[in-house]
Amino acid sequence: MNISMFSTKSYDRQFFDAINDDYGHEIRYLESRLTQETSSLAEGSDAVCAFVNDRIDAAVIDDLQQQGVELILLRSAGFNNVDLRATEDAGITVARVPAYSPYAVAEHTLALILGLNRQTHRAYNRVRERNFSLEGLLGFDLRGKTIGIIGTGTIGTTFAQIISGFGCRVVGYDPYPNDECRELGVEYLELDELFADSDVITLHCPLTPDTHHLIDADAIDQMREGVMLVNTSRGAIIDTRAVIDGLKSEQIGHLGLDVYEEEEDLFFEDLSERIIQDDVFARLLTFPNVLITGHQGFFTEEALTSIADTTLGNATAYETGDGTLHDVSPERIEG
Ligand code: NAD
Repeated sequence: MNISMFSTKSYDRQFFDAINDDYGHEIRYLESRLTQETSSLAEGSDAVCAFVNDRIDAAVIDDLQQQGVELILLRSAGFNNVDLRATEDAGITVARVPAYSPYAVAEHTLALILGLNRQTHRAYNRVRERNFSLEGLLGFDLRGKTIGIIGTGTIGTTFAQIISGFGCRVVGYDPYPNDECRELGVEYLELDELFADSDVITLHCPLTPDTHHLIDADAIDQMREGVMLVNTSRGAIIDTRAVIDGLKSEQIGHLGLDVYEEEEDLFFEDLSERIIQDDVFARLLTFPNVLITGHQGFFTEEALTSIADTTLGNATAYETGDGTLHDVSPERIEG
């Protein structure tokens, strides 16, 4: 199958080339993001392969259909960046990577929590400046604290397993609770109860119309004063302006982000020589108790190997009708 792969970096080429020896697809690696301006680059391809910040809206889908593209291969679990109604109308199949090393994201979530709590990011800089003062670095024991997990799917459950080892009380909210979490001791609560009870809240639900700005001013008001909020899921689950107000009023004590609602113009690129135009993001960078990483939760060798394998397996399953095609239908978004 001819595949045009958008938004590629050196590591995509490295992992896909290695796995493609087993599949034999023809992959054209493109650095451009997939948008309406670049969709013509897919000319002659059976499939396009896209990443989290490629914008696959109705106009792009129309262009792809006219070029004869039949398949969109998402090399991600999330599919919020695709207009699934438009792909269905266009007769284009969408496939994704439903699960790949949930440990990658769950472990990164823990890294953010531990880093924020003990201010490792600030301690690192201080020691390099031979400033060995501990003022402002006071943390808390995680043992005995209540950790709230919103979305107890693959990653949320893996995170529950990990955090259980810290002696925490773990509470969860999910419209579809699962027995694996219950067996781990996760107490399922209503969302308002989880907000009120949790010392740390971590988001692992998908971005859907229901979860867009799930964490808004009203939700933040219901949380414990000084709560730690962590988002490794999708940026727009959080209303960033409301969170900034929460940080200013100190209702939010720590914020850890691996995703940001306007990240598509920032993340995955070296912008160190440029002036950041996004004032909301720039404000976030001023808080000492905010730790941001640039969407690197998935970025482990194991996850990249698994992503390449499932993505190319999806292409083969579509082409041959054999094997598992992890397709996504609009019903998944609309519940
Ligand atoms: P999953 O589908 O296994 O689990 C998602 C869970 O969220 C499900 O149990 C679902 O019932 C629940 N959910 C749905 N609507 C909800 C709501 N309104 N409130 C609470 N829970 C709700 O997905 P997953 O593999 O665990 O991934 C979770 C998310 O993590 C993905 O959607 C993606 O956005 C994000 N992700 C981020 C990275 C990264 O690099 N930072 C990598 C992979 C995935």
